[in-house]
Amino acid sequence: MKTIDLRSDTVTLPTPAMRDAIYNADFGDDVYGEDPSTNRLEKMAAEMVGKEDAMLVPSGTMGNLISLLVHCRRGDEIILGDQAHIFYYEVGGMSALGGIVPHTVTNQRDATMRLEDIEAAIRGDNIHYPRTRLICLENTHNRCGGMPITAEYTDSVRKLADRYGIGIHLDGARIFNAAVALGVPVTDLTRGVDSLSFCLSKGLSAPVGSIICSSSEFIAEARRVRKILGGGMRQTGIIAAAGIVALEEMMKRLADDHENARRLAAGIAGISGLRVELEDVRSNILVFSLENNDLTEDDFMGRLEERGVRFLSRGPRQFRMVTHQGIAAQDIDLTLEILKDVVG
Ligand SMILES: *Cc1c(COP(=O)(O)O)cnc(C)c1O
Repeated sequence: MKTIDLRSDTVTLPTPAMRDAIYNADFGDDVYGEDPSTNRLEKMAAEMVGKEDAMLVPSGTMGNLISLLVHCRRGDEIILGDQAHIFYYEVGGMSALGGIVPHTVTNQRDATMRLEDIEAAIRGDNIHYPRTRLICLENTHNRCGGMPITAEYTDSVRKLADRYGIGIHLDGARIFNAAVALGVPVTDLTRGVDSLSFCLSKGLSAPVGSIICSSSEFIAEARRVRKILGGGMRQTGIIAAAGIVALEEMMKRLADDHENARRLAAGIAGISGLRVELEDVRSNILVFSLENNDLTEDDFMGRLEERGVRFLSRGPRQFRMVTHQGIAAQDIDLTLEILKDVVG
């Protein structure tokens, strides 16, 4: 039986071109700045998103944590969405390791935070208050169902931040999905932020790695913080070689993932007992709910798993499916057939 793994785009396997690139890569010691493949990847990444410099890190979580640690001192406060990945899924690292205070603002259905809500959260100059140092954005927005946020919105947050002298970090784990979904150059989405991190290991299908991009000064400091966290790695060309293929070759197929997500959503919308908001499916993530009350959540997921279809629960009776390189249009059709069997 075939497994159709829709849990996440992190399950993507390295492509044959990546395996060849890893085999043939040039190596050196990256802690000394001597790994040629890593240096090439970092230069490419910085250029693609329009920043001065970039640095490879083992994961998106570390990319965000390092960025926050460079922006903030202990006791500083950051403003971020109440649905933000950094707030929800990163183990509280900012507080555990950085003494940083999260100040959450409601994420609207379109994944933005209202400008007036952000402004209201910014602290005044008062001896009782922590200092507001940073605003964090997320694009595409994971918990908001892969919603892309526009360049206009990002620029408007920039204007607000500038009025108060605050920085902006973008959790751009899937920033290239956002650019494809909106049909804009990625630099439109990154020009307004001081730092960003993005993942090589999701839709771009590399086995490991994320990248932080920012000014040269910021990245120099980020290299020190990465070392503190034990993230100074050695012959990282093993990772970077696949990352280069990810940036050169995998971008062009993200549109297929979005198309497959829409196909899946349209099918689910036609199955009685399931519900999906079609207009919310904008990239490769799809959130739907089970309205058929004869089935428990566990039964529903268990029966699909028995037929080879895997996905995640987002609780209560809500589920997430993510399309990626390992999912073809036929897999979508098969998933829809099985869903119909189970729910119908
Ligand atoms: C996956 C993800 C991350 C973290 O990536 P890891 O490599 O799993 O640590 C950060 N932000 C968002 C929005 C993500 O989807």
